[in-house]
Amino acid sequence: MIPIIKPLMDEAEANAAARVILSGWVTQGPEVAAFEKDFAAYTGAAHATAVSNCTTGLHLALLVAGVKAGDEVITVSHSYIATANSILYCGAKPVFVDVDADTMNMDPALIEAAITPKTKAILVVHQIGMPADMARIMPIARQHGLKVIEDAACAVGAELLWDGEWQKVGRVWGDVAVFSFHPRKIVSTGDGGMITTPHADWDAQFRLLRQHGMSVPDTVRHKANTVIFEEHPIMGYNYRMTDIQAAVGREQLKRLPGVVARRREIADRYRERLADAQWLGMPAEPAWARSNWQSFSVRLPDQADQREVMQAMLDKGISTRRGIMCAHREKVYSGSPLHAPLQNSEISQDKRIILPLYVQMTDADIDAVTDGLKKATK
Ligand SMILES: *Cc1c(COP(=O)(O)O)cnc(C)c1O
Repeated sequence: MIPIIKPLMDEAEANAAARVILSGWVTQGPEVAAFEKDFAAYTGAAHATAVSNCTTGLHLALLVAGVKAGDEVITVSHSYIATANSILYCGAKPVFVDVDADTMNMDPALIEAAITPKTKAILVVHQIGMPADMARIMPIARQHGLKVIEDAACAVGAELLWDGEWQKVGRVWGDVAVFSFHPRKIVSTGDGGMITTPHADWDAQFRLLRQHGMSVPDTVRHKANTVIFEEHPIMGYNYRMTDIQAAVGREQLKRLPGVVARRREIADRYRERLADAQWLGMPAEPAWARSNWQSFSVRLPDQADQREVMQAMLDKGISTRRGIMCAHREKVYSGSPLHAPLQNSEISQDKRIILPLYVQMTDADIDAVTDGLKKATK
């Protein structure tokens, strides 16, 4: 059986968790601070704040961007539903624009027509690890005074060519980026998230908001030799990460460069092995982008039945997933303002499938997938 993904964790992660459990400090303490430092160093971000998951991180990012009830946020429907939900958490409305058919990322040409006097921000997704076209999105955002939030849930290790150099997602080309450490992503802490930003004042707000709006963190009170009384100047949330998760995350981060390199090799082999299957569409990687290949998504021919192809592969012991789902087709979003037809988003959900991709895959596994896919679609 070839699964869609296999987590890469062993004694290194287990020992890190054990070390924290035996240390006497298990939440938002020294390990979280160290993980934030490691993560900022890896991405090149000025500031990094750990949170409980990517969805809570997106909520805080939108709040600090000033998104309030009645505002509009331009985003894509073609994403995990948490992207749009984080906008609803603020009482704001997601305004969906379509994606580019080949990169599956927000089509910058459609943004301007979606802007209204109520638009506050753009929530752009680096979908399944492919960087979005920030060089075209940022000038539009700045011209209209919009904040830009990057949903980088799947994109740790992905890179964008910016000012003539390759920069990591999370360095932040907009105002803030948010990552997920769910096991379906490339770095996992079980659950977990990270917010990176170039703005020191935003980072200070994230730290307040993730811990009940409390003015003095536990770590500071614990070390003080004078009594300190904390205050709660604003309403916050409990969006903390535990030290157990952070210690696991630090081990995962050490593996990341090797993991990304291997994932790129596997993606290359997929392309090579599928080169003779002209009826299949390969994922596009623009010259200015380097995906981390969190997922490898293939476009099926128009006449192919997605479910039948997936079933034929499953019968051969190969697990696949359908394309990224569209939020606007879910009941929660049936009343959302849809600015334009979302044709590419819908086609991508209905006519793409995601292939297995994990570093423990052998070349024989990859070939079994490509052979199975060709037979199931020819
Ligand atoms: C996984 C994912 C999320 C949600 O991440 P959690 O850590 O599970 O909250 C949000 N956006 C995108 C694009 C995702 O893929």
